[in-house]
Amino acid sequence: MHTLVFATNNPHKAKEVEQILGGQYQVKTLKDIGCLEDIEETADTLEGNAIIKAQYVKNNYGFDCFSEDTGLFVNALDGDPGVHTARYAGEARNADDNINLLLKNLADKTDRSARFITIITIIMGEKEIHLEGICPGRIAQQRSGTGGFGYDPVFIPDGYDLTFAELGEEIKNKISHRALATKQLVAYLQSI
Ligand code: IMP
Repeated sequence: MHTLVFATNNPHKAKEVEQILGGQYQVKTLKDIGCLEDIEETADTLEGNAIIKAQYVKNNYGFDCFSEDTGLFVNALDGDPGVHTARYAGEARNADDNINLLLKNLADKTDRSARFITIITIIMGEKEIHLEGICPGRIAQQRSGTGGFGYDPVFIPDGYDLTFAELGEEIKNKISHRALATKQLVAYLQSI
């Protein structure tokens, strides 16, 4: 079976993709291949950071690999937090602090439109491919809901009046940035 590394430390993410692929690929995490070092994401774009992670695995461990990088882009904030989404309020990467800062920075703005973007970079042999999933929406005035993670309590996807944290996993997994990018990844892997 073809081994593919998902450059993540989250075993659930890797299992999920492996299951969708229906046994065609064995999907391993960074830990599975003994890659315990911290891969620094120093690029100023999502694509740049996804490339850094995928190339690191390919160059140092020799496996075909894919990686993902996600950001929240808010129009009234000139695209912030963007590539800094995880550490918007500081290196602690605290979701609560990140949301507080976002709501504070948007307090006097009428345009609340935003979008989540996930970039997946896949390196198969000599080939490098980039896939993109976009989920447009808006930032709520305040938190609602208890599900999900990160900015979910304040992100309302287009077509809904509830936040990702209120909508629940089933709906989120159909329309989210990550779901759309993963769908393309699966279609690509099944086509080769
Ligand atoms: P990562 O590239 O998957 O680590 O995502 C970067 C940051 O974006 C995370 O730390 C979260 O704060 C945020 N994020 C990514 N995906 C989501 C999502 O689906 N909902 C809410 N926040 C997200």
